[in-house]
Amino acid sequence: MAKKDIDWSQLGFGYIKTDKRYVSNFKDGKWDSGALTDDDTIALNECACVFQYAQTVFEGLKAYTTEDGRIVTFRIDLNGERMEESAKRLEMPEFPKDRFVDAVIQTVRANADFVPPFGSGATLYVRPFMFGSNPVIGVKPADEYQFRIFTTPVGPYFKGGVKPITVKISDFDRSAPRGTGDIKAGLNYAMSLHAIVTAHKEGFAENIYLDSATRTKIEETGGANIIFIDTDGNMVTPLSNSILPSVTRRSLMTVAEDYLGIKVIHREITFEEVKSGAFTECGLCGTAAVISPVGCINDHGNEIRFASGMDQMGPVITKLYDTLTGIQMGRIEAPKGWIFEI
Ligand SMILES: *Cc1c(COP(=O)(O)O)cnc(C)c1O
Repeated sequence: MAKKDIDWSQLGFGYIKTDKRYVSNFKDGKWDSGALTDDDTIALNECACVFQYAQTVFEGLKAYTTEDGRIVTFRIDLNGERMEESAKRLEMPEFPKDRFVDAVIQTVRANADFVPPFGSGATLYVRPFMFGSNPVIGVKPADEYQFRIFTTPVGPYFKGGVKPITVKISDFDRSAPRGTGDIKAGLNYAMSLHAIVTAHKEGFAENIYLDSATRTKIEETGGANIIFIDTDGNMVTPLSNSILPSVTRRSLMTVAEDYLGIKVIHREITFEEVKSGAFTECGLCGTAAVISPVGCINDHGNEIRFASGMDQMGPVITKLYDTLTGIQMGRIEAPKGWIFEI
């Protein structure tokens, strides 16, 4: 085995075909045993439920090389659990969490030559997903499904250093109080496309969505949870049943409390509080960037600037970022069960 001839530092976030992908099909009420395949295409009937009624859920995670040269993934049992929850909500059969973990490991191992070396900042992005595959025209769930995992090498999220971003308060809503905001489904992303294109045209990096019932509380962005640091140095993160339970955010809560002695407060956060200067630092968290610092929130022309400024990550978020990435890269001892070796 030899690493592929790829200029890892020049990689962006795009699809590159790797050697193997994992496929398992669900038919007659059960999943088959699943296998790795070379075929990167899927042939489906034109009336497949996924095309007509968007019956599809997904996950996103990374495999990477640690400082001491091991290929690992991070807390993929939580991705497996979350995908079970997403599937249930869309009336899809669950792909069992233990099989999910095994399938991720098999797929990464089969594409080990595409896992970027330590120090490149690049990673192998892993995309498990599942969709209703048989023809359905009356509105009902499919009877047949495919679970699939492909991988693609992606470049460092922050090219040329971490830079705080400016985000806007979106005029669109992301999810309803009893809707599907807490599952990882393509449908939540389809509706966010217009909002993100609009935000980008206006010069903003991301949208912050407010709760759609009252539009007074902070929820999350299209693809990342939000954390704040208050004036006492506590980590405060929004509580809502329409926010996607980010693995990164949940890990940061543990890191804050157990490694850094930072108090974590998980509660509803009003936009009024943010405007009143209750918080000194803000960041978006997700697998891709771990944490993207937010320097400024734009609310219809009014700027809410965080004390941490537009030049660097604030001091508390820097500690959180350094500790979590240290754990991921094997520099700092991880809590039991967080690191999966390939
Ligand atoms: C995937 C996702 C996140 C981030 O979750 P991680 O598990 O940390 O990658 C946050 N919000 C939404 C809406 C997401 O889809």
